[in-house]
Amino acid sequence: MKAVRGDITKLAVDAIVNAANSSLLGGGGVDGAIHRAAGPDLFFECRLLGGCKTGEAKITKGYKLPAKHVIHTVGPVWNGGTRGEAEKLANCYRHSLDLAVEHSLTSIAFPAISTGIYGYPIEEAAAIAVRTVVDYVREYPLDVTFCCFSAKDLEIYQAELATEE
Ligand code: ADP
Repeated sequence: MKAVRGDITKLAVDAIVNAANSSLLGGGGVDGAIHRAAGPDLFFECRLLGGCKTGEAKITKGYKLPAKHVIHTVGPVWNGGTRGEAEKLANCYRHSLDLAVEHSLTSIAFPAISTGIYGYPIEEAAAIAVRTVVDYVREYPLDVTFCCFSAKDLEIYQAELATEE
């Protein structure tokens, strides 16, 4: 398990996770970047999936990405923390990891789900991400990368990872 700074669309892993919206038909932020890099076939496959609920996840091929697959998950919109956001965010990580295991994938990279347009405070989101993944890989060993878009986010993830070691 490690945190890196970079653009998740460049990572050659078995699956990158997309912080999608419930339509799965594209959006801004990391979702837009993934669709741009994967090409239109990703959109065509997503159209067949019938959307995705908050906290759940669906898998597609990676098309023109260096990653073999994309796991699309829908994070919660931050509403002050009183509407089950933490549990929903943890479910995004768990259900994405479940799909990786079901498809016999060994490496997976996550963006900081919900911390962009959806407004989840990065410190709290990183704590949930790291805790959920640490618990999960105890049972199912997977090579997990947290892909941070900014230097600040990377610092927060590294501090969080240090508390787990
Ligand atoms: P959400 O709607 O779930 O908040 P966003 O895409 O707005 O999703 O943001 C989620 C995180 O992804 C933010 O930390 C944002 O900075 C980051 N991000 C945006 N583009 C990329 C990218 N190309 N690679 C990795 N992370 C990215």
